[in-house]
Amino acid sequence: MMKLGLTLPISAAEAPSSWVSRLGQLNGSAYVQDFVRDIGLSWRNITQGHTDELSKLSYITSCNLEQIERFALRPGRGRMKFVGNEPIHSHLISFQTQKVCPICVSEAVSNDTQLLRGSPVYWQLDPVVTCREHGVALVKLPPPCQPRCKYDVTGRIVDCLSSIKAAERSALPQDCTSLEKYIIGRIDRQRSVGSTWLDTLEVGVVSKVCTTIFDVIQEKKKHHRTTLDYGSPAEIFVLPP
Ligand SMILES: [Zn+2]
Repeated sequence: MMKLGLTLPISAAEAPSSWVSRLGQLNGSAYVQDFVRDIGLSWRNITQGHTDELSKLSYITSCNLEQIERFALRPGRGRMKFVGNEPIHSHLISFQTQKVCPICVSEAVSNDTQLLRGSPVYWQLDPVVTCREHGVALVKLPPPCQPRCKYDVTGRIVDCLSSIKAAERSALPQDCTSLEKYIIGRIDRQRSVGSTWLDTLEVGVVSKVCTTIFDVIQEKKKHHRTTLDYGSPAEIFVLPP
């Protein structure tokens, strides 16, 4: 198996599929599937975090396997997925609608439209809508059109680069909420944020509990939920009358 001459380091909290899409752009492929086929790997297996495929990727790129696997997406039981070791309900994570920070992207893109830094996977979590570093709202990219794959994070950014740069100029200041910071911390495994009680609950349950309490406090809804979605232990939280 050949070694890849042109490589980039994987970024903090970057999923392997995002990193491989940056490697594809660096090596002159407009579509990540073409690049992966050329180097003899399976794109589907990379997007699903197959260890064998990621091991081959580690050899080809001389990048540490543990680093590549750290934020890999893997299917779990039923409707659960794993981001690294953290179980996440599939309702909570989506690549169909890709979210990016326009400032992060503009800072990371080189003159020849290479992305020198990748997107953290937690931007794709439903409750995360703010860039923690810049305190601005993440912007949503349009759904991908074939043959652009939804996991081709870099290809989609390059497709929308002029719009993203325009969004950078009018980026909306927005505080990253404690809930967002907590969820990002859970994905990063920096559990110093939040209480140990919250740490025992699945991230989707934490999110639903917190947003429901917020709605109650704000009196946004007259009829509150008394159960939680996502097939999780729904009865753990019942609102007071
Ligand atoms: Zn940012």
